[in-house]
Amino acid sequence: MRSLWNDEEAARFEREGGELGLRVYTSRLLGREPELVLHGGGNTSVKLRERNLLGEEEDILYVKGSGWDLADIDAEGFAPVRLEHLVRLASLERLSDPEMVNELKTHCTRAGAPTPSVEAILHAVLPHRYVDHTHADAVVTVTNTPDGEARVREIYGDRVVVVPYVMPGFDLAREVARRFPAEAGPQTMGMVLLQHGIFSFGETARESYERMIELVTLAEEHLRSRRAWSVGLPEAPPPPSPIRKEVAALRRRLSRLAGRPMILAVHDDPKGRAFARHPEVGRIARQGPITPDHVIRTKPLPCLGRDVEAFARDYQAYFHEHAPQAREPKTMLDPAPRVILDPEWGLCTVGRSPKDAAIVRDIYEHTIDVILRAEALGGYRALPMRDLFDMEYWDLEQAKLKRAGEPPVFTGEVALVTGAASGIGRACVQALLRRGAAVIGLDRDEGVREAASGPAYRGLVCDLTDAGALEQALEAGVRAFGGLDMLVLNAGVFPPGRRIAELDEAEWRRVLAVNLDANLNLMREAHPLLREAPRGGRVVVMGSKNVPAPGPGAAAYSASKAALQQLARVAALEWGSDGIRVNTLHPHAVFDTALWTEEVLRARAAHYGVSVEAYKRRNLLEVEVTSRDVAELAAELCGPLFRCTTGAQIPVDGGNERVV
Ligand code: ZN
Repeated sequence: MRSLWNDEEAARFEREGGELGLRVYTSRLLGREPELVLHGGGNTSVKLRERNLLGEEEDILYVKGSGWDLADIDAEGFAPVRLEHLVRLASLERLSDPEMVNELKTHCTRAGAPTPSVEAILHAVLPHRYVDHTHADAVVTVTNTPDGEARVREIYGDRVVVVPYVMPGFDLAREVARRFPAEAGPQTMGMVLLQHGIFSFGETARESYERMIELVTLAEEHLRSRRAWSVGLPEAPPPPSPIRKEVAALRRRLSRLAGRPMILAVHDDPKGRAFARHPEVGRIARQGPITPDHVIRTKPLPCLGRDVEAFARDYQAYFHEHAPQAREPKTMLDPAPRVILDPEWGLCTVGRSPKDAAIVRDIYEHTIDVILRAEALGGYRALPMRDLFDMEYWDLEQAKLKRAGEPPVFTGEVALVTGAASGIGRACVQALLRRGAAVIGLDRDEGVREAASGPAYRGLVCDLTDAGALEQALEAGVRAFGGLDMLVLNAGVFPPGRRIAELDEAEWRRVLAVNLDANLNLMREAHPLLREAPRGGRVVVMGSKNVPAPGPGAAAYSASKAALQQLARVAALEWGSDGIRVNTLHPHAVFDTALWTEEVLRARAAHYGVSVEAYKRRNLLEVEVTSRDVAELAAELCGPLFRCTTGAQIPVDGGNERVV
């Protein structure tokens, strides 16, 4: 592993923030290396002497605040805690978790600081100025073997202090305080926590960081020299296709176990498939995670195959066996697995949100490497279930996952929006994402890829009139998120005005193909998926004011939208017993869409002899209807407010006297 230290970058951080600035810099260097830390894992600190308002000098421990990620931490992410108090706490016989958190918070010198890491006391008792902690893959590979401790001593000699596994938090801090400085010598540059991770120390940010790199490199070299670095797997056959109906059915079962809609991601990843087919997967995968830090995300064990109910039964049985012996009474967490290793589908991950499922994927990709390398080294050994249970049910770990307040209404649900590249479709994507849904956007236009960003959005280029392309898009969307809960049929074309006498058949056919046939096809393909929606499927159809009040010169458009409306009404009749609601919006005169250029607007306004502004507000309420107005209502139609409504048609037009 290479040091990423760069003198110029470092100087910039030092100019802006002094020694704390350098602490920020090397923390980010650690965070940039996924083989050191993943997603909020690891922590760092620096001890600084500061003068308080009374002019007194104080030693302050700046330690990573909980909720911050090393990859993008800044000075605000470090909590300043009075060092002397922390060191004295380590001499207590015991300190409960709530007491510890209270002490950490009340001894910060900045009121708005984040809660200090639960490892703050441990950082405090180490005598070095800079302390870096990671769960480096290479180190946990070595320690998670039957003779891990002997190997660590062989690799590092007196350069590190070795600490057997103790649960993180106060007990670990006390154990470390007991060993320092007695076990440390002039050579000591770090500490290995068996089956957990590694610490490095230094007088400067650079020294501590580069010692981390040096120590991890030694572990990597050990693995290489034992032929336990490059570990291949036989190639697995590609997954069967299509599988979307089975995926949606599995997600429904997972959501039932979890008690809420969950995201299920099927990763098309050869390594995951090969690992899931490993002849000894039952032994090597069903031991536990590579560091206890992961258990909260991954659960102690993966589910092998798709019998998630059997997994849940085992989980419940284990809980009832061990919970009574836990330190404090516990309520059982949901028993749905977070990692599924299926011989056909490969690695699948489960999470409350697409981001959670993606984090679990990253963690498990590393887990596979560590397990295979540890196996090559002499056998993979994880912590006993007992310790994993304590860690999973540790309140301070649970607190990390809890977000402030209620999660958004569509968290864990999946929506598909057609015509998502612009206008009302794009606004629907945003409205659904804001409400916590994962969204699949389809459009012929390449712009659909950039209609939104982040792990909760997939924009797929797709011509809806091409049945094969539509199937592929559905297959990809369902593999990404696990199913389909909401469908917004928004795509449509509005041809230039033409009287019936001049309407040629090709144009008529083209308009019906997009506005009607493509929607029929999509509804037919979506039905088996919507039927599996944990909270019931929802369909929103973009109709038009032209359905109740057609205009001259728009025969093809009005006829196609009227036929689509009948289709929606029949779907409401046919799908009600499947719990699927189908409702229609009739927007009108939504001018912030691609259809309406400035030029067209001016021409229309001139036609009516009014200003563009007045033309935009030609409705009973004299309001301008925007894409966002339509999209917000479309999203609300999918929400609990309309739980009892299906087959409805709602105008979004500012009031039209021909409709009222
Ligand atoms: Zn750790």
